[in-house]
Amino acid sequence: MIRYSLICENAHEFEGWFSESADFDRQVASGFLTCPVCNSASVSKSLMAPSVSTARKKEEMQTVAMDAARREAFVKLKEAIATIKANSEDVGTRFPEEARKIHYGEVDARGIIGQATPDEAQSLVEEGIEIAALPILPEDVN
Ligand SMILES: [Zn+2]
Repeated sequence: MIRYSLICENAHEFEGWFSESADFDRQVASGFLTCPVCNSASVSKSLMAPSVSTARKKEEMQTVAMDAARREAFVKLKEAIATIKANSEDVGTRFPEEARKIHYGEVDARGIIGQATPDEAQSLVEEGIEIAALPILPEDVN
């Protein structure tokens, strides 16, 4: 078997296996050999050197692996935020006020989420009230 790096008229690169060199010519002539991306039958042997295509493939695989890790982290973050939201009362802009009431025992302790300006958040922290900023996920921004 011979492996050829192939390229179609739309510059899609792929690989093909052939029993012999003439097998490639036969498949092209019969229109049997088509690009897996765009289905074009205009396919020729790629002039790219094997070492270059190997290096490129490695780079692509690393990119894919990184994306998968990022996606996983993103999904975990989303789940964590969903859990917090499910177990908290959304008090909106009353957040600083409610956080103080909980901190000073004026109301029963419970989880709350809401909005606070940077100044409000800062003074809550200075009063020793534990707050955490939730990251805003892309899908929340419309
Ligand atoms: Zn193509």
